[in-house]
Amino acid sequence: MDLWYTESHTDHVRFSLQVKEHLFTGESVFQKLDILDTYEYGKLMTLDGLVMVTEKDEFVYHDMIVHVSMAVNPDIKNVLVIGGGDGGTVRELMKYPGIVHVDMVEIDKLVVDAAREYFPAVSCEVDNPRVTVLYEDGIKFIKGKEAVYDLILIDSTDPIGPGEGLFTTEFYSDCYTALTENGILINQNETPVYEKFFEVGISSNKKLKKMFPSVHVYQANIPTYPGGYWLFNFASKKYHPIEDIKEDVWNGLNIHTKYYNTALHRGCFALPNYVKEKIEHG
Ligand code: SAM
Repeated sequence: MDLWYTESHTDHVRFSLQVKEHLFTGESVFQKLDILDTYEYGKLMTLDGLVMVTEKDEFVYHDMIVHVSMAVNPDIKNVLVIGGGDGGTVRELMKYPGIVHVDMVEIDKLVVDAAREYFPAVSCEVDNPRVTVLYEDGIKFIKGKEAVYDLILIDSTDPIGPGEGLFTTEFYSDCYTALTENGILINQNETPVYEKFFEVGISSNKKLKKMFPSVHVYQANIPTYPGGYWLFNFASKKYHPIEDIKEDVWNGLNIHTKYYNTALHRGCFALPNYVKEKIEHG
């Protein structure tokens, strides 16, 4: 049978993958979750009809959300992951023996359960004793926390449904307070290829700049996300992401990564002019 998964990226653009088998469908109070087995990208998880993770290209996103900050401050000890229920971000964090503890605050248990069953290579570290999984709304969780985390990774869905409040000034301000004086925040910041996504990314970047003295955008190629090209914000109270990279220390840790390396770290902050200009001038 000729079965295809199709996602609308804009009103005029669709992205399709041929499907071998529809493995699972489930619904929580927050969202609808599907797992499909595809020919080219292996297993795929969608939430409300949007790609979250595929077996073939998940390494790009998870490497880039984690290792950039860890190379800038390899002494990071306490980490908060907001969202990230597939477990990929936690898997990368657990490669660092110096990380003492990770709180992963995922609103939807269904995502974690489905990842455990269908993506064991992604979710493999969620039961690590250094990880606490909390099924809570990250927006509420962060409120009132002061100087607790060295790193906050916002591994969220787009700003619709439960993810909406993760793109607000109030939430970023709570994150700022929850970070230690060396603190770094990373958030996934959408694609610049399509206007509706880029507007979200620019707005998020502007809000962070009002709070953090050092905010820089970096990029990665993620084939199954809209535009195949994704941005992240690096926001820090103290560090410049390139001037302060501890290249020798990070390379000395001998951490195996499939996408990230320290040469790429320097390159990923070099943005194309159309992205740079829009971020700088709106
Ligand atoms: N890599 C994905 C991407 O960029 O498309 C995102 C990963 S996905 C696992 C994001 C997770 O954020 C989802 O599991 C979703 O349930 C969770 N999430 C959304 N809003 C949340 C909130 N307010 N608090 C905690 N988790 C949230």
